[in-house]
Amino acid sequence: MVTKYYDLRENINEDNLDEIIKAYKDGEVIAFPTETVYGLGANIYDDEAIGKIYQAKNRPKDNPLIAHIGNISQLESLVKEIPIKAKLLIDSFWPGPLTIIFKKNKDISQIATAGLDTIGIRMPDHPVIETILIKGNLVLVAPSANISGSPSPTTMKHVLADLDSLIYGIIDGGNCEEGIESTIIDLTCEVPTILRPGTITKEDIEVEIGEIELDESLLGSSTLIAKAPGMKYRHYAPKAKVYIIENRIKTDLIKIEIKKEKIDVNKSAIISFEENRKHYEELGILHKFSLGSMMDLKYGIRNLYRILRDCDILGIENIFIEDYKEIGLGFSYMNRLKKAANQNFLKEK
Ligand code: AMP
Ligand code: MG
Repeated sequence: MVTKYYDLRENINEDNLDEIIKAYKDGEVIAFPTETVYGLGANIYDDEAIGKIYQAKNRPKDNPLIAHIGNISQLESLVKEIPIKAKLLIDSFWPGPLTIIFKKNKDISQIATAGLDTIGIRMPDHPVIETILIKGNLVLVAPSANISGSPSPTTMKHVLADLDSLIYGIIDGGNCEEGIESTIIDLTCEVPTILRPGTITKEDIEVEIGEIELDESLLGSSTLIAKAPGMKYRHYAPKAKVYIIENRIKTDLIKIEIKKEKIDVNKSAIISFEENRKHYEELGILHKFSLGSMMDLKYGIRNLYRILRDCDILGIENIFIEDYKEIGLGFSYMNRLKKAANQNFLKEK
């Protein structure tokens, strides 16, 4: 199939909008921009269309999708109840990069929710998809618009690199502002629990609703079974072998690894914060990428997946990337990095 391209970067063209809304209602799957990453959407009331998402992405069937809504009356139609803490979070963070897990209404698609009695919902903060959801009165279920396991797409080009000719269409809405997937918080358990960290942090949420927990699978080793089914898979990974440089600037350890593993420096990359770049020059590694200043981790997070994908395009075989202190946004950065690296830390043996 020839994937249709809709350019909605500059202005939201009415003819395109009508065609896109009709296609979703006719059961097609179309990739769309959000503030986090690109999503691959289908109508929540059309199981056949939802099946096409799992097929195009090669996504395991036990990994549920997030429902994207444009207004609160849509939320009411999807869930059994809206707890008071959800109301507080909605007031503070919607539209925005926060997914809330609710108890779902019985008649909501079993395929979209992987047979669970809960559903993850968010209201995205991006003018293009917001307009489509509201104008079409659509609820779209969507995972990230990539092949399962690769880094999530933050530009239209990333989506096409993975899914061109496998999906009906793609809406280009420019580069994603946040750059990693939404924070997921479960409000169906006794103490609200973060299942996936994102750019809205635990600390941000606690200001609104008091103390919350982190799912155990996010702490320490990753052997625990994650409560967000998707978090148990190897994820966000480029083709290269990724080494996390602990405590930064460990040039001696990198030198030893290069020698021991006969690493080709011309097919290797250093990904570091701007302040530390110069420390790695002596290694002779050809490709160097900057995560921006250590004082502005939001910038680094926004560019992380793009850099990992650029490494793939350049045929890079080994990536050395700097860690960050695991608090606040640093916790979310390290969560994605550990998955991309499959927990491979470069440290003294
Ligand atoms: P993706 O859009 O690819 O980031 O995938 C959506 C993420 O949301 C996956 O990690 C899912 O496991 C998680 N998720 C979706 N619905 C639920 C739910 N009802 N309970 C727990 N996690 C969920
Ligand atoms: Mg994903």
